[in-house]
Amino acid sequence: MAWTHVTLIEDNTEIREFLSASLRRLKYDVTAVGSGAQGLSVAASRPDGVVVLDLGLPDIDGLDVLKMLRAAVQTPVLVATARDDESHIVRALNLGADDYVVKPFSAEQLDARIRAVLRRSGELREETVHSVGGLVIDPRAHTVTHDGVLLEMRPKEFQLLSYLAKHAGRVVSKDELLTKLWPNAYGISEKTIDVHLSWLRRRLGETAAAPYYLHSVRGVGVKLIDPDR
Ligand code: CA
Repeated sequence: MAWTHVTLIEDNTEIREFLSASLRRLKYDVTAVGSGAQGLSVAASRPDGVVVLDLGLPDIDGLDVLKMLRAAVQTPVLVATARDDESHIVRALNLGADDYVVKPFSAEQLDARIRAVLRRSGELREETVHSVGGLVIDPRAHTVTHDGVLLEMRPKEFQLLSYLAKHAGRVVSKDELLTKLWPNAYGISEKTIDVHLSWLRRRLGETAAAPYYLHSVRGVGVKLIDPDR
């Protein structure tokens, strides 16, 4: 099996060199860079594997790098942050980071987090195209169309819709959505799910009061249905 590629974006030379060496010992293929701009270019050329992103970078704010990464690639992103950075962690997770590690962390901890993130993204990385009524969700192309018209969708909305489409016709609890789509998500509650659901409804051109595809089942969860059935 090929070694997993890690794009390591860390401006502190000592930490970067230490982590690179440790990860290589743990059989990762590491490309380590010291700036956000370099990181973005490496991540774009290596969409496989995983990105480890330090949030405190000299050239571009780490959260902005994260936003740009999320807009460009599907690669899982693990953010590395300083201990007193709790608000950053919440923002990073809301911006689509897959997990985080708090400095100082060992290479072994990072290794465990990387494995967990890759396992989850493998589970979420659904290759099957799902059709529900006029909706077609294509995980490979990362597109959603409705009656042939392309719908704009942010990564988390896409994940949410994909998950619901995979389980179309069944009520999915908010708890399940939290576990599957926001694992380890700290500072994230059912309210976050509600917000994302309302964004998703807007994308689909419907409302909670007048549902078409997306139906809330009070106290239980939500389900995506084919309205023509
Ligand atoms: Ca830093």
